[in-house]
Amino acid sequence: MIADPVPPVFLPTLADLARGRVRSGLTMAPWWWEPLDDAPPAALPGAPVDVAIVGSGFTGLVAALTLLRAGRSVTVLEAGRPGFGASTRNGGQIGSGNQKFRVKTLIAMMGQTKAEALLREGVAMLDHIEALIRDEGIACHFTRCGRFRGAMRPAHYEAMARDMEDLRRHAGVASFMVPRAAQHAEIASDLFHGGSVLPDDASLHPGLYHAGLLDRVQAAGGIVAGQAEVVALRPEARGFTLVTPRGRVQARDVIVATNGYTQHFDSYTRRRIVPVGSALIATGALPPARIAALTPGGRMYGNSARVFSYFRAAPDAPRLIWGGRIGHNAAQTDPRAYAHLARDLLATFPQMADAPVSHAWSGRIGYTFDEFPHLGRTPAGVHYAMGYCGTGVSRATWFGRKIAQQLMGAAEGASEFSDLRFPSHPFAALAPAAVPFVEQWYRLRDRFAF
Ligand SMILES: Cc1cc2nc3c(=O)[nH]c(=O)nc-3n(C[C@H](O)[C@H](O)[C@H](O)COP(=O)(O)OP(=O)(O)OC[C@H]3O[C@@H](n4cnc5c(N)ncnc54)[C@H](O)[C@@H]3O)c2cc1C
Repeated sequence: MIADPVPPVFLPTLADLARGRVRSGLTMAPWWWEPLDDAPPAALPGAPVDVAIVGSGFTGLVAALTLLRAGRSVTVLEAGRPGFGASTRNGGQIGSGNQKFRVKTLIAMMGQTKAEALLREGVAMLDHIEALIRDEGIACHFTRCGRFRGAMRPAHYEAMARDMEDLRRHAGVASFMVPRAAQHAEIASDLFHGGSVLPDDASLHPGLYHAGLLDRVQAAGGIVAGQAEVVALRPEARGFTLVTPRGRVQARDVIVATNGYTQHFDSYTRRRIVPVGSALIATGALPPARIAALTPGGRMYGNSARVFSYFRAAPDAPRLIWGGRIGHNAAQTDPRAYAHLARDLLATFPQMADAPVSHAWSGRIGYTFDEFPHLGRTPAGVHYAMGYCGTGVSRATWFGRKIAQQLMGAAEGASEFSDLRFPSHPFAALAPAAVPFVEQWYRLRDRFAF
């Protein structure tokens, strides 16, 4: 159990935050960072390495671990502190990576055989992260708690029921529907018109999962150098030179694992990833019985809105963690940018108006133009794995392993996602600026059901 950084009495309430009346008292950093230590940045390697990895999230660290265990020398270069990106900021909800398209839509797009293969690889991702955490002995509260998704409209409930049936038929995924009359067994809210449960979905503490991976990479001899932003990547006769403000690193191969934080040093990936903000708040410590009463199912939670919310109880303290899109009305360091999250929380749990709120933070997810994740090799010979579109805990873990295996030419690196074309867009550079308008449009459609 982690001690509160600020006694609850000094914290604003959710009602204060919902009205945008908070000037101070909130910790503007992830709740997940509370148990993490800041270490001084590691030195860059003094000699060329086999593989340099750009980005130290789940993708980069799992790739590093896979390569190190196969005897390669590896340095991970990270612009911020290790784990600065989405991997230590996310909701810790783990699905099979199948949530982006309805099964029927996926079949219409890809044909039944390919769609089923993609779906089954998604299921394998969930099993893989569980096995990795178990085999590496990472204490990060991993549990197969299941996920409840609330239907915002009666029609959503019917559509969900059909999709769950398709998911069972085409990928063997277990699920059940919970009608509105029975939903209080899952959640103490009247907002939903029933919902679906995926009982095998899972959860973890992202900060501790990342810390465990970091520890295993370093124990296996890998260097993870924070404060080493790659500003240029130059092809050489025998590999690449990566330029950082702290010096240069020479590597035979490079993996770009920057997802929503992808920058201009590699124009191929930059033109294919649209960074989209996502934000979370954490309540202050609450009586454990109050949390248990809100979420009697003890699951991960989400809803069926286009601009959706996702929430859960924290695994290491009696707090509620609530997430959604970022606010565009103020800087991310300003509490007012999180007011909409408090409003969405209170629409679901009006009984929480007096609850304290302690943390608020945001991060970037990596969207792609086709809403599929991608891995492979650029025309310049740089390996990449990214584009998880917001469901990246299991996907990044899986793709990190796959891209490392592909780099080594191992047969196990084969993936059903490898032969998907990684599309760009003629107006790719403008896409980030369009995101707030698209989100407002989706909010209107959620509100007026069109
Ligand atoms: C707020 C939020 C909530 C989320 N919730 C969930 C969830 O509940 N479930 C789920 O499955 N997924 C969730 N996701 C998505 C998931 O967290 C990501 O898909 C996943 O962590 C991506 O991991 P990654 O290693 O590929 O990228 P990241 O963890 O984002 O790491 C990329 C790293 O690259 C570094 N970098 C970028 N450019 C450079 C450079 N030039 N030089 C050096 N380093 C560089 C960045 O600093 C960053 O640390 C969420 C994401 C966010 C932001």
